[in-house]
Parts: sequence; C-alpha cells; structure tokens
Amino acid sequence: MRDTALIWFRQDLRLADNSALAAVQERPVLPVYVLEDGPCAPGGAGRWWLHHSLVALGRSLAERGAPLVLLRGDPRQVIPELAARIGANEVHAGRQTEPAARRRDAETHEALERAGRRLVLHRNALLHEPHLVRTGAGAPFSVYTPFSRAVFAGLEGLPPPQPAPDALTPAPAAPEGLAEAAFGLLPAPPGPDWAAEFPAHWTPGEAGATARLAQFLRDGLATYADRRNLPAAEAGTSGLSPHLHLGEVSPRTVWHAAKAQGGAGLETFLKEILWREFSHHLLWHRPEMPEEPLRPAYKAFPWRHDTAMLAAWQRGRTGVPIVDAGMRQLWRSGWMHNRVRMIVASFLVKHLLQPWQSGEAWFRDTLVDADLAANAASWQWVAGCGADAAPYFRIFNPVLQGEKFDAEGAYIRRWCPELARLPAKFIHRPHEAPEVILRGAGLRIGSDYPAPIIDLAEGRARALAAFAAIKGAE
Ligand code: FAD
Repeated sequence: MRDTALIWFRQDLRLADNSALAAVQERPVLPVYVLEDGPCAPGGAGRWWLHHSLVALGRSLAERGAPLVLLRGDPRQVIPELAARIGANEVHAGRQTEPAARRRDAETHEALERAGRRLVLHRNALLHEPHLVRTGAGAPFSVYTPFSRAVFAGLEGLPPPQPAPDALTPAPAAPEGLAEAAFGLLPAPPGPDWAAEFPAHWTPGEAGATARLAQFLRDGLATYADRRNLPAAEAGTSGLSPHLHLGEVSPRTVWHAAKAQGGAGLETFLKEILWREFSHHLLWHRPEMPEEPLRPAYKAFPWRHDTAMLAAWQRGRTGVPIVDAGMRQLWRSGWMHNRVRMIVASFLVKHLLQPWQSGEAWFRDTLVDADLAANAASWQWVAGCGADAAPYFRIFNPVLQGEKFDAEGAYIRRWCPELARLPAKFIHRPHEAPEVILRGAGLRIGSDYPAPIIDLAEGRARALAAFAAIKGAE
C-alpha cells in the first residue's frame, strides 16, 4: 500500500480536473479544508458561498469513499499536525496567488519540511503559471494585450480536462472534523438574513458550476460579443465568476468547452477569461496591488473621504439610477453585471472622489465572486492608477451609459422598483422629469427616490482637475 497523502482543498473545491487530487488518487487520501481567520478569510458574501460549496464538496467526497475533514485554525500548525497524525509524507494543494496565501504556504512547507514532509503545489486555478510567463525581455507583463497574446499562444496544446475519480481510498484513522455549520459562515440571527435572495440566483458547488457552464454554452456564448454589455440580458454573460473564484470548475474545463462549441462570441469570451489570468499575473508580481496604487504618483491623490457619500453609494441611494440599480443588485444577489461594475466604480472614484480602496473593500465583502486579484486589478484599472489602466480623462457619464446599455430601463425597473413606472425617456434621469410625469409614475424625488447627490457636470470637472494634477506629477 502506498503512503497516505493529504489533499488540502482551498480554491479548487471540485473533483473534476483537479491536479492536486489527480496526483494522489492512487493512494489513500485524507481530504481536508481548513477555515482560517485573518487575511486569507473570505468576505461576508464569500462566506455564504463557501458554506454551500463545502457542503457540496463534502457530499461528493463522501460518495467516493473519502469524506472531507473540516478544521479551523492556522494551517501552518493544523496541516503539519494532521500530516504527522495520519503519517502523510506529502500534502497536495492548488497554488494560490494571494500574497497572504503564498506566505502561509511557504511557512507551512517549512514546518512540514522540518519533519521530513513536503507541500506540493499544483496549477489548479489558472491557465498559466504567473512565475513562468514572461515578456521577451524576461520581465513580468504589465500590459494586457501582449500578455494575452503570449498566454494564448501557450495554450495551443492545452491538455484536455481530467474527469473526476470514481472512487477514492480513504486514509486509515481519519480524524473527526467539524460540521459545516460549526464554521458559522452563514448570516445568523439577531442580524438580518442578507443572503435570503442568493439561492434564487446561485447554486454553489461543482454540480451548480457545471450546470451554469452548460447553460451559458447553450444560451449565451453565441451572442456573447453582442449582449455582454447589456445588464438586463438573460444569459448575456456566463455568471461563472463565483464558481471560478472557488475553483468549482477549472478554467481549463471552461476554456475547452467554449472552444469545442466555437461560434461568434468565442474570441471575446476567451479574452475575458484571460483578463482573469492577467489579474492574477499582476497580483503575483505586484503583491501590494490590493492596497497601493501601482502608479506611485497616485499615492498623493486628493481623495475626499466622505462617509455620507460612501454610504449613499453602498446603499444604492445616490439618485443616479444605473448606479443605484447596480449597488442594489450587488446587495441582493451578491453579484453585479460587469458593465455596471465599471459605471459604479467610476462614479465612486471620479464623480465622488472617494478612494478606490473603499470601493474595493465593499465589493470584497459583498460580492460572491470577490477575488483579491480581479477586484483589486479592476478597481485600479477604473481609478486610472493600475497597470494598463483606463485613461484618467475617461469619466463615464452614468446617465449616458445607462441610456446606451439599458435603453428601455429594464435593469433599472428590476432593481429600483420605485422608478418602474417612469417612461424610458426619464428612467435614467428622474430628477429631470416634469412634475406631471413624476405624478403619473407615483414618484416624489427627495422622498421616494433621492435627488442626485452630485451634479454630474461639476463632479466630472472636479475629477478631471484632480486627475490632471496627478498625471502632471507622473
Ligand atoms: P463573463 O463575462 O461571463 O466572463 C467570464 C469570466 O471571465 C468571468 O467569470 C471572470 O472569471 C472572467 N472575467 C471577466 N471579466 C473580467 C475582468 N474584467 N477581470 C478579471 N476577470 C474577468 N471579477 C471577479 O471575478 N471578482 C471580483 O472581485 C471582481 N471585481 C471587479 C470589480 C470591478 C470594479 C470591476 C469593474 C470588475 C470586477 N470583476 C471581478 C470583473 C468582472 O466584472 C467579473 O468577472 C464579471 O462581471 C463576472 O461575471 P461573469 O462570470 O458573467 O463574466
């Protein structure tokens, strides 16, 4: 009988195409998940997702004969102790890019090595290896297009995804773990159940991910290039981000499945998958990205730090319908459409001059797909301080964006029901509607719905001046 191995699940909560699992599946295995506090812990919405994902993974592993052991604590102690207890010489896991996770892994490896054991990391979350893909000059990439070209070329011979194992051999003398409920990941009384609506939108777990991918291939991929910017479109985008974040489906599976189907939307879709890769590439090489602007001049940016403005934005009470609809979609479903993410982020950092880090933190807590790399890279992109960022003078006008991408206001009507009876002409600018229209729509500006918290033209001029000053200092 070969040595028992530990498989330590983190952001690869699946059985299919899991390189860490494939490496140990011929041996007796002990699957373990360790809930951590501190910088590796998920935000609120991510915790809801994690709970359900662990339930699903636990069920699949139990069906194959090797139940998942749930533990809580610092993996630097928990993992070496567990390995010693069951006599496992190897611990296998998927590689992570988050700086705190990398530090934790290095220290866990050292602790294991002191006892003659080792941590073996596999490529499980990404299509490329951030430490291997380099520019011609041997440096990490900082611009998306050449990065995507290099990665694309390297993916020509990408091997097909591996199926899930039918059965696993359990480790002898596996310890008792905790039940998922003991992790306390779900909202609990006396607090509000802010996740009440989430199950209507999502099915966490590998089966849910597989079903979501199949649905997107059937209903969304062919029209992806045309409809991905329309926030009201059914299946306009894949909705795979939370599944990809926790690794319930591998990027390789998504890549191959989309390519096998082909069609008009394919290229655009694959490019988006590569934006995810690019974010992780950036985080790997610039670990300061979640906290600090990648362009140093932006450290001196004159942010306004206004808690009332920030709260109005967080609650979807800015008086700008597309912003409010987006922020309410986020709160109620744990997700927001990408076009709207760009609009609300631009509004916060440019019109309101609030620090991008405040928006990043709110998203990190409220998104079910909150991902340190994608979130930080995207916020820095919008704020103009990131690698390959949007030019500073590009300030979305949220009213025009709404009129362009939600012309009839279907998205607004869904998430801001108090505006639902306004005609399309005024749905993105209710404060400009004549009194008779407002009365007909049963709407009073200032009580049923706020007046805009900022004059858009003034906000734009103020932002342009602030950003131009920083640009001059670069
Ligand atoms: P699709 O359009 O179906 O795209 C397929 C996949 O490609 C996505 O699931 C995602 O994994 C990846 N992807 C698409 N666009 C991007 C992008 N711009 N950057 C990185 N990966 C991308 N995405 C996250 O996964 N987590 C975050 O925390 C996150 N925060 C964001 C914050 C801001 C301010 C902005 C503007 C964007 C953010 N994004 C984030 C990127 C993007 O909005 C989401 O990935 C996308 O909306 C998810 O929906 P989907 O799965 O239907 O995407």
